[in-house]
Order: sequence, then C-alpha cells, then structure tokens
Amino acid sequence: MIAILSKNCPLSHKAYVVRLIESAGCRVVVSETEEETRMGVVGSVPDDLAVRLLAADGVAEVRTDTAPYPMVSRESHPDPTRIKIRDVVVGGTEIAIIAGPCSVESQGQIMDSARAVRAGGAGMLRGGAFKPRTSPYSFQGLEKEGLQHLAAARAETGLPVVTEIVSSEDVELVAEYADVFQVGARNMQNFRLLNAVGRSPKPVLLKRGMSATVDELLHAAEYIMSAGNPRVMLCERGIRTFGNHTRNTLDVGAIAVLKSRTHLPVIVDPSHAAGLREFVPQLAMAGIAAGADGIIVEVHPDPSVAMSDGRQSLTPQGFADMVAKLRPLAEAVGRTL
Ligand code: PEP
Ligand code: MN
Repeated sequence: MIAILSKNCPLSHKAYVVRLIESAGCRVVVSETEEETRMGVVGSVPDDLAVRLLAADGVAEVRTDTAPYPMVSRESHPDPTRIKIRDVVVGGTEIAIIAGPCSVESQGQIMDSARAVRAGGAGMLRGGAFKPRTSPYSFQGLEKEGLQHLAAARAETGLPVVTEIVSSEDVELVAEYADVFQVGARNMQNFRLLNAVGRSPKPVLLKRGMSATVDELLHAAEYIMSAGNPRVMLCERGIRTFGNHTRNTLDVGAIAVLKSRTHLPVIVDPSHAAGLREFVPQLAMAGIAAGADGIIVEVHPDPSVAMSDGRQSLTPQGFADMVAKLRPLAEAVGRTL
C-alpha cells in the first residue's frame, strides 16, 4: 500500500501519516519527488489502514493494488537507486563492468586476472572463493585463502571485489575482504542468508535462481532490504528452459521488466547464460540494450586451464574486444562506458 501526499503538504501532516502507519505496526519508506511525497507501507497491513490514511490531512491518494515488495518496488521509490562501491557508482548513466575468473585459483591467477580486466576496462573484480558446485568432487574454492588473494589484487589494482557468499555463517569472514556480497542463483531463496546479508552494510549482488520467476527475485530482494540493507543489485544470469544450445537461456525480457518494476540496479551475466565464450559478447550487448546497468563477466588469463567455467570464460583479449564493442552500444542507449 502507498499513501501519496500532496506536494505542499506541511511537515506536521507528513509526521502524522508516518505515526498513523507506525501505530498500525508497519514501517514506512518515504520517497520525495518533485511532484509528491510517497509513503510506502511495509509489513502486514491491517484492513482499516487505507480508510484511516485517506481521512488524514495531506493525503491525496491511497493505492492498495501495489506490489507486495514495497521497499524494492518502483511504485514507492520512482527514482533509480545508485549504489556507490568505493569509486564506482552502479545505477547511474555509466555501465558498470565487473570481470574476473569464475574461481580464485591462486594468488598469481587472480593478480593476473585483475591486471588484465582493469586494462580491458573493468571497474570491479569478480572471483569466487566459495564455490557452490553441482558435484561435491569439483573444486569448492580456496575459501579464506581465496579471499586474501582477492584483497591483495584489490590493493594492487584498486578494483573493488565482488565475491560469492554461500552461508550465513560466513558473513563476518567474507565482509572482512569483499566490497560486494554475491548471492548466487542456487541461494536466491536461502532466506537465512538473505536476512544475514541484509543485516550487513555491504552491497549485495543477488542473482536470479535458474528457475525463479521475476516476482520471486523481487521478493528475495525485499528480504534483504527489509532486514536493513538498501544496497541491493539484481542479476539476470539465464534460466533453465527446454533449449540446450546455450548453458541457460538469457531472459532479456526479464531485464526490461525488472527495470520497470524496481528502482534497484540490474546487472546482466552473459557468461552463465551462454556457457560458451563465443556467445558472451552478443548476450552482453543484448542485456545492455534491454536496460541493464552493468555486466558481470568471467575472464581467465588462460581459460583452457580454468578450474571452473573455463568454456565460458573470455580471454583477456576477448574481454578487451568485447568492451570496445559495448562502448558504442552503450552510447546508443543513452549510457556511457
Ligand atoms: C558464478 O558467478 O560463478 C556462479 C556460480 O553464478 P550463478 O550463481 O549464477 O550460477
Ligand atoms: Mn562461474
């Protein structure tokens, strides 16, 4: 539910409306625009609240047919959210580029990757230290040692670090080294993990589950925001369909829909969608054309020896060539890169 207050409404009326909502056991998200003040009602809304709000001075309109994720929804927050990560801003006009290997494999490998992606145009470094693998016998990541290698790569290159967290028990450890928590597709509905990263001040990159609807992704983001963390980015990384010509099917339409439903930045992951490096640049372009605010892409110094996702990893040269192609496309859709 959203209460819309008229533009010139006095502060005392606004304060009264806030008290009214809070006394009904709900929380308020306030968004001021040039024309109006929007107060989104967060929580389990009592039946009589709409009538009581409508009767309050200053309230011009009460909408009850609103999305069930008020903190994430554009209805209660029409302006896009910008998230600052060190010197990088995600959600503004500039397209954010997050690049690096699937997994952190060694100090040398992540250092080479960081130098290569920075030279190729990346603004942030990715790399998994905790890897959620389909098989228990596959490489599971270097864990704490991997996080330390990432921090060393950041110290040298200045690139902020995006890395996956797979358990709520690891929040403190990962927060010590990472700039952004990545919540992977397999954990999109791990509600304890969502609450745990929601209690942290670190930004979160929330990936869409491979069989999750857009609505479920938005609800998952609402968990993080309602736990106290407003710095959430959403990521479309391909979903499971009957097609097996690519690893997953990039849901380009979902990117456009997400941009209309939420004020949160949307990132496209063409690597896990394509599964094959030769199609990664095209899917990155499709994502940006559909409105994505950034890309997260896998790059390995030598994909042939990668310990995970080598087949979809770009070489450093392939990455630099892709970024060069993305630049005119970004400009064509009113963005910079
Ligand atoms: C990854 O980013 O390497 C990863 C495991 O991604 P996803 O959660 O989208 O499968
Ligand atoms: Mn991967």
